[in-house]
Amino acid sequence: MLNMSLQEDLIITNAYEEWLDKNPDGTISPEAAAIVAKQMAKPDRDRRFSFSASQAGSCYRRQELAFLGVKTVGVTDPKTRRIFNNGRWVHLKWQAQLLTAGLIDAIEVDVKNTRLKARCTLDGMGVATRGRYQGEDFGLEIKGRNYYTYMQQAKDEPDEGTRRQVDFQFLMTGFDVKVILNENKNDQTYHEWVIYRDESRVQDARAELRELSKAIDKERLHPMIPDCKRQEGEFNRCPFGGNGGPCMMAGTWPARIGGS
Ligand code: SF4
Repeated sequence: MLNMSLQEDLIITNAYEEWLDKNPDGTISPEAAAIVAKQMAKPDRDRRFSFSASQAGSCYRRQELAFLGVKTVGVTDPKTRRIFNNGRWVHLKWQAQLLTAGLIDAIEVDVKNTRLKARCTLDGMGVATRGRYQGEDFGLEIKGRNYYTYMQQAKDEPDEGTRRQVDFQFLMTGFDVKVILNENKNDQTYHEWVIYRDESRVQDARAELRELSKAIDKERLHPMIPDCKRQEGEFNRCPFGGNGGPCMMAGTWPARIGGS
């Protein structure tokens, strides 16, 4: 369905290609360089005590443990660290070039909702300069994808995790339009989807946040999901999982919160 983003819907692709034709080296403006340089020197934000868009739709218990700042297990291996770092630079490249091309106005836009204990950061934000949604505010989500995931999504649609992240961001920003840009890490081809707000999905995102918020207020975590109770599936991938891991040890409420 989403793959059907029509040519006339696209906000970034055609304008970006025109800009790249005129700037084959992708040289960025001093203004964009200054914005991005500031961003590069910032440490990662403290993710405790707010629910995040990137976790939307995942196990409630996992989101609650992350909210509370419970320490995760294991050390990220060097290869994974390099992959994360590369993803960060892919974001910065797009952000710098789209700022220079005048296709976005701001990057790393932080949006908070205290009542829902929620927070999200948009990779970019702008006003559509062309296409069906010309004149509308839009949020931007950039994803560096490995070859297999890129190819699969390009012929189909973004994964459900990304869709849930976008629903969460619609809820937080009140925007009606969102752009997802997937870049293939192997050859830098990219694919744009323009997603229009689906109110029923946004209401699902609101219901999820209310449910999570209630658990925090009552100091009672949601139970482990069935697979994890059997020590299968997500149990072995989740940063709180594993035998004797933080999820197992937390019971109905963890003894140590906030990374203390
Ligand atoms: S181990 Fe399973 S149940 Fe526990 S937080 Fe992770 S995904 Fe949720």
